[in-house]
Amino acid sequence: MKNSLMFMYHRLVRHFGPLHWWPADSPFEVVIGAFLTQNTAWRNVEQAIAALKQHIPLTPAALCALPKETLEALIRPAGFFRQKAQRLQLFAQVLQERYQGDLDAMLSGPLPRVRQELLAFKGIGPETADSILLYAAQRPSFVVDAYTRRLLQRYGLLRGIENHEEIRALFMDHLPHQAALFNEFHALVVEQCKTFCRKRPLCESCPLQSRCAARL
Ligand code: SF4
Repeated sequence: MKNSLMFMYHRLVRHFGPLHWWPADSPFEVVIGAFLTQNTAWRNVEQAIAALKQHIPLTPAALCALPKETLEALIRPAGFFRQKAQRLQLFAQVLQERYQGDLDAMLSGPLPRVRQELLAFKGIGPETADSILLYAAQRPSFVVDAYTRRLLQRYGLLRGIENHEEIRALFMDHLPHQAALFNEFHALVVEQCKTFCRKRPLCESCPLQSRCAARL
């Protein structure tokens, strides 16, 4: 498994080069992006974050102080804006009250415990929790999303019945726990699935075709 994953990784790096994720100016902006990107395209998140940034500094205190209706209006481009505004403000409130707004303090400590704490928040599922850990805190917690499942299944590394945690365990159990590796690998999987391994795959020009089960 390790060899297959690393072969995939090196092929994708060679094709796409380093991708330098996550596009954000601060760790707290990564957190906001991780909430907003649920069920919407990234371009809509960019619009919402740009609007927010024009209005307030992106800090937990400023987010807490913003009237709910104003926050909803600013993040409207990201969709589900009422629900996302409520969840973002709840997260910022807890961060303020328990950690005095210090995101580093919230995200440090043993990884399984911090991950469980994040998962206890409304609106934070495994993909969002791992995105926050990996991209806001540089903790080695692999991010699995629908692209990961699609690519690994077609490639022949999944049977299709695995749940989210089982797919994540493939990476966590077989790769060195290096945030830089996990960061780049997840970004490459997303890029690969947007470029080649789409719903209707473009196998002819895919950099993984020589070893892909769907192609053999
Ligand atoms: S060869 Fe086709 S199915 Fe396999 S990873 Fe590439 S695009 Fe996806």
